[in-house]
Amino acid sequence: MNPQPDRAAWLLGGDASCSRESGANGPPLRIVLLGAPGVGKGTQAALLTATTGACQLSTGDIFRHAKHAAAGEPLSPAMHQALDAMHRGELVPDATVLALVTERIHCLRCPGGFMLDGFPRTVVQAEALDRLLAENRVPLDAVLRYELSLEELAVRIAGRRTCPHCKAVYHMQTKPPRVAGCCDHCGHPLVQREDDRPEASRVRLAVYEKSTTPLIDYYDRRHLLVHVDAHGTPEAVYRRSRTALHAHLATKR
Ligand code: AMP
Repeated sequence: MNPQPDRAAWLLGGDASCSRESGANGPPLRIVLLGAPGVGKGTQAALLTATTGACQLSTGDIFRHAKHAAAGEPLSPAMHQALDAMHRGELVPDATVLALVTERIHCLRCPGGFMLDGFPRTVVQAEALDRLLAENRVPLDAVLRYELSLEELAVRIAGRRTCPHCKAVYHMQTKPPRVAGCCDHCGHPLVQREDDRPEASRVRLAVYEKSTTPLIDYYDRRHLLVHVDAHGTPEAVYRRSRTALHAHLATKR
């Protein structure tokens, strides 16, 4: 099992490097995780990282990290605009997201592989990702598409709580912490993500439907799409993910 690397290169960009390289178990795995907000992509990415060594690259984490790291420091105008959009539940402009990902191209070239979580989210981003990967001769292995009904997504989002310190994720009904309101791992008070508030989460679900669902066809046409039923416990979904992914990879060999 591989613990999640610190992902400094991804979270900070620039000259930052990770304290240790991702360790691949076997050939590097390079996948995109696709699915609506609240479907559990982040949870699955953490589980898949533990067994494959591929690093979770979440664009949302870059924005959340910038917000906390910059407390008291001025943000660039583009990052300011990005955090405002995030607060409202809207998408950050493609140009901003693509500039951040391009700056982190070394993470896509990482010999440990990658799991992109929350990127791409629009067809423009998917086309740009294709170009970046082709220029760097990095193949994409699969796009795992997690599926859940709108009603269940709303329940998952409303009950989600996170630890702002160690990033552990809980759910008030299905995965409560041992002590109410406190992280099991580090004891910090749990918070609700700003964009999980009802006003913002309604916007996020609508934005997903309009901007991100076209990617299902986009990747289906490229024979990369792998469907995963996201009902049930994280472990059950993880087992389904592994089975579906292995079946897909076997067809490519
Ligand atoms: P996530 O953690 O993936 O749910 O992302 C949280 C928020 O960050 C989103 O609701 C957007 O405001 C912003 N964001 C993250 N990734 C992207 C992306 N690829 N394109 C546009 N906005 C993004």
